[in-house]
Amino acid sequence: GFYGSAPAWLIGGIPGALLLVVVARLRYWLSARKIGKEQDIRIIRSDIRGTQILGPGLTLGFTLIGIGLMPYASQHQQSLAIVSIWITAIASAFCLFALPRASFLVVLFACVPLSISFLMSGDSLMMMLAIVFAIISALIIYMLKQHFQAFSEILQSRNEIQEKHSQVERAMETVTEMAFKDHLTGLSNRRHFESLLAERVGTPELCESPFAIGMLDLDGFKPVNDVHGHVVGDDVLLQVAARLSIIMDGRGRVARMGGDEFAVIAEHIESEFEALAFSERLQEAFAEPFVIGNISTRLAATIGFSLFPFSGNDPERLIDRADMALYKAKSQERGSCAVFSIDDESAALERATIEQELRKAVAADKLTLNFQPIVDIADGKLTGFEALARWHDAELGPVSPAVFIPIAEQIGIIDHLTENLLRKAANIANLWPAHLILSFNLSAEQIVKPAAAAKIIATLAECGLPFHRFDAEVTETAIMKDIENARKTLLALKAVGIRISLDDFGTGYSSLSQIRTLPLDKVKIDKSFIDRICDDPKTGSLVRSIIGMCNSLDLACVAEGIEYKTQLAALKSSGCASGQGYLFSRPVPPEQIAAILTRQDMRRAA
Ligand code: C2E
Ligand code: CA
Ligand code: CA
Repeated sequence: GFYGSAPAWLIGGIPGALLLVVVARLRYWLSARKIGKEQDIRIIRSDIRGTQILGPGLTLGFTLIGIGLMPYASQHQQSLAIVSIWITAIASAFCLFALPRASFLVVLFACVPLSISFLMSGDSLMMMLAIVFAIISALIIYMLKQHFQAFSEILQSRNEIQEKHSQVERAMETVTEMAFKDHLTGLSNRRHFESLLAERVGTPELCESPFAIGMLDLDGFKPVNDVHGHVVGDDVLLQVAARLSIIMDGRGRVARMGGDEFAVIAEHIESEFEALAFSERLQEAFAEPFVIGNISTRLAATIGFSLFPFSGNDPERLIDRADMALYKAKSQERGSCAVFSIDDESAALERATIEQELRKAVAADKLTLNFQPIVDIADGKLTGFEALARWHDAELGPVSPAVFIPIAEQIGIIDHLTENLLRKAANIANLWPAHLILSFNLSAEQIVKPAAAAKIIATLAECGLPFHRFDAEVTETAIMKDIENARKTLLALKAVGIRISLDDFGTGYSSLSQIRTLPLDKVKIDKSFIDRICDDPKTGSLVRSIIGMCNSLDLACVAEGIEYKTQLAALKSSGCASGQGYLFSRPVPPEQIAAILTRQDMRRAA
């Protein structure tokens, strides 16, 4: 309609140029939408900046064109132009509300020029319209501002929620990691090992392919930890973990089950033969010494295997049976390896029954004592008795103390057991002539405990047995487990006048120099030497040198397990002071002691 009346640049040139800008921008947006959300933050920033300039700029441009065309327009056209400029501006402002500066400017750039042009027209109606425009613009800007605030609050809380969410996620990750990883070595822990095993057993594609579970128990780790401290101990465990990981790389998994116990899942092992061969491969981890600073130490591993599917096909059973095999290997020889067999299970079952019944028997004070005379070899006179524990179970029958004492130690009832027996023994010994000595066995577990000595002393005092009539027997191996603490206990006993005997001498690995540092009164030569004393000249001379050593160290000497007169004669000629054995008497129940006491001379019995 303006063609011919208005100048060409106002109708075509400028609007055309602005339209080109609009079309270009539209194309840009349409193509940008396709790229999707993951845009570079820099591109997003420059887009926003572009919109912040272009939006208000275009508004100003179109508004000015509209105002420029007013003089050439009919009144009808004028109102149409005003309404469309105004509505477009408001609509744009609302669209841009997330960019508050741009949207305010759009409103201002539409309203201010229009209002000014209305004011300048001199028309009172138009001037009124200018005022209305200004008020409405102010209101719209106010509304936009409110809107924007609410919007940014929502954004902010959404960000906060997201941040919290990722915090929780991170925490969850650490927790799961901690729950499944051994904190020291970074290997899988017991729980993870169990779930790996469950996964391995439950994977249908793998259920045909055999594998072995190996339980490894380190030999010699505890002394390293005790002597050199936990820092060195931890370092050793780390090195063990690293070496095992290298060996197991590509063959299966390694885990630390706790303490000095490790476990492996080794693939493609089908038979006992293959398991034993594989254990040699594992033992290579211990071929070289472990070096920490200037400390160098050697370790070995005892290993027990169970085989899938022969030993079982559920995780729990496989682990239990590998443990049984480990137990068997340990009782055979340290550093050895064993594979589970069904016999192990019956052994383990029997042990479990013994444990259960023993607990009951000790709680009910059902254990009794037998007493075996100890005799002066020179004149055959009785010098005292050794108290020996007896347990006759209704179902299991008689169980040897060699079996149940170690079990009592392991299940933590040895203190209770000993206290009961000690009280019984002391009360019986109180009835004997005052020159007779009561010999009583203390277990390994007890002599390393600082409180043990005080307990024994208190019990004896309670029963009224003089300390000098009490002889505590301790084995070499018990002392060697922890020589420092053992020495403390022995010194405490010695301080009140209790005698100390070294039991089973010759079966342990103690050296003479170590024995010298202990407060001993007596050495008991182990039965295994007496057994061969007559038949094997080497043993004969060994026993003679032990007796000689005792004499020179001023220690009394007792030979255990004398069964034959020839053995007694050999011992007598070697100068052994005392003896004990079936030749004189088997261990007897308390009722039979009176008969022995009236006899006194044990030689006639022999
Ligand atoms: P031990 O202290 O060396 O006790 C000697 C063992 O040899 C006893 O076996 C005894 O019955 C047996 N014996 C004695 N003379 C002869 C003989 O001439 N021939 C043969 N073949 N054996 C003989 P027992 O009573 O079965 O005790 C075994 C081990 O159990 C003991 O060895 C001792 O280490 C431990 N023990 C026994 N009673 C107690 C106890 O009350 N407390 C603790 N801690 N250990 C105990
Ligand atoms: Ca003994
Ligand atoms: Ca002995």
